[in-house]
Amino acid sequence: MPGKRAKYQGLAVSPGLAVGKACVFGKILVVPRRKIKVSQVERELQRLTDAIAESKQELSQLKSVAESEVGIKDAEIFGTHLLFLDDPVFLAKIQKKLVENKINLEAAVEDVTSESIRMFSKIHDPHFRERIQDIRDVGMRLLENIMGFDRSLLLSTDEDVIIVSSELTPSQTINLKKNRIRGFVTEKGGPTSHAAILARSLGIPLVSGVHNLETRLKMGSLLIVDGFRGEILQNPTEEELSTFRKQLESLHIQEDKEKKIAKLPTRTKDGVRIKVLANIRSEDDVTAAIHANADGIGLYRTEMHFLNHAEFPSEDEQLIDYRRVVEKIAPSPVTIRTLDLGGDKFSGFYPDLRETNPYLGLRAIRVSLEHPELFKMQLRAILRASVFGNVKLLLPMISGVEQVIKTKRLIRKCARELKRENLAFNAKIPVGAMIEVPSASLVIDSILKYADFLSVGTNDLIQYTIAVDRGNEMVSDLYEPVHPAILKLLSRMAKAARRANKSISICGEMAGDTRYTALLLGMGYTELSMSSFFIPHLKSKIHSLTMTEAKQTAQRVLALEKIKEIKKYINNSW
Ligand code: PEP
Ligand code: MG
Repeated sequence: MPGKRAKYQGLAVSPGLAVGKACVFGKILVVPRRKIKVSQVERELQRLTDAIAESKQELSQLKSVAESEVGIKDAEIFGTHLLFLDDPVFLAKIQKKLVENKINLEAAVEDVTSESIRMFSKIHDPHFRERIQDIRDVGMRLLENIMGFDRSLLLSTDEDVIIVSSELTPSQTINLKKNRIRGFVTEKGGPTSHAAILARSLGIPLVSGVHNLETRLKMGSLLIVDGFRGEILQNPTEEELSTFRKQLESLHIQEDKEKKIAKLPTRTKDGVRIKVLANIRSEDDVTAAIHANADGIGLYRTEMHFLNHAEFPSEDEQLIDYRRVVEKIAPSPVTIRTLDLGGDKFSGFYPDLRETNPYLGLRAIRVSLEHPELFKMQLRAILRASVFGNVKLLLPMISGVEQVIKTKRLIRKCARELKRENLAFNAKIPVGAMIEVPSASLVIDSILKYADFLSVGTNDLIQYTIAVDRGNEMVSDLYEPVHPAILKLLSRMAKAARRANKSISICGEMAGDTRYTALLLGMGYTELSMSSFFIPHLKSKIHSLTMTEAKQTAQRVLALEKIKEIKKYINNSW
């Protein structure tokens, strides 16, 4: 008997379509609690040793699976979990609880895990907050092994399953791949959470931000997950189900066609060459970029590498990383962005980044210029990597021309040093400014006098122009790429770059969204950079439209005053 039909709107975190039975995680464990006798302590300690050994074995296996499926960087999460299990403080706390409180092992592990979570929650630093998820994940694994919980019970199904969980841990995300997991729905976890990144790498749709989901989505009910729109449909009607199946089928046909088109150089129907580039976080992502036949790397977000290190990576360590990327995609270009720490990306080696308003505080180029000695290490590493291929250097969060001038001064200083040290570098490396702060877009002509190229970060440009936190689902309806203010800024910047005869690209999420392709092309953007996942679809879109049509779209849309009208026009045209 099918349950009640219901539709929920969440955030589209990992794209794709899926249908399956809801498998509600999160209420699996009821932890038993009892007092034990002194004579039983020894036995509980032995159970702890056994459970740790079992958990470590599982994590090592998961790590090697993850390494081959999603790459070494993402697999490091499991390395972190292994370290937790070796942490003498964590283990000593569990032993102390057993001995002093005389409680059973399950209760001791649960208490110590909760205490550690509470302790980390008090630290006002998102970097530490991310560790909370790791602690929870490790604690849960340990408990499951102590209790002899058979995960295969949960996963031994021949049916397609949608995992519903208030929060999704990285090991769950990886573990489930080999089973019939088709989609994920979560309450917490934005697009930058570990699980979201993994889900995207695995190509599994994920919708997050669905409130009270464990009470709303029922175990075993049929769910349709639309990871493109962020929609969940519970117990769809027969008609909806058949429409969905048709959509899924045409998506597969479409994907096959797009993969073929992606092999060709990207041109509009009337022959204008458009460069479609990839956004990457590490060398691991370059393979996907090559498969998608990207015209190069338009945005290399270097901070991911820094977030994974306990200490600031040395110049040589950075050089190794950059060189690998540069050589792997050569002779195609790589635009390496200097560190964009701050905002929601924190790192232990900049302790001063604890602010009440981090997005408006010490972030990106501001942090780098505040710490010139560390900044120089990165600039030198990028300069040295530049001899191994086609490298450009990009400065994030520029808000005025002074930051470009100051950085170029530092680059010249690094170049003089490298010359003295007889170390090779490209003295003519292009230096570009990322335009993601409204003030920079308003003084674009001055910036163009010093920058060799521009790259527009629409994710932040939208956040700062409309004053809407990009990660806060409570105001996500105000986060609007086609707000007339954004479109005006984009159009002005494209014109300014053309006047100055310098290249301009877009590397924010807007670039990969085919709803905006005609508009952006029509405004004069002929270089777009995005996650490799979107490249085939975008290329296919470009092949289907002419530049004349695109210009008409831009002209018409720029004259409209209301978001609703703009959306209607775009939806009807494309
Ligand atoms: C942007 O802001 O659009 C951008 C590409 O940078 P990030 O998403 O890394 O802030
Ligand atoms: Mg940005």
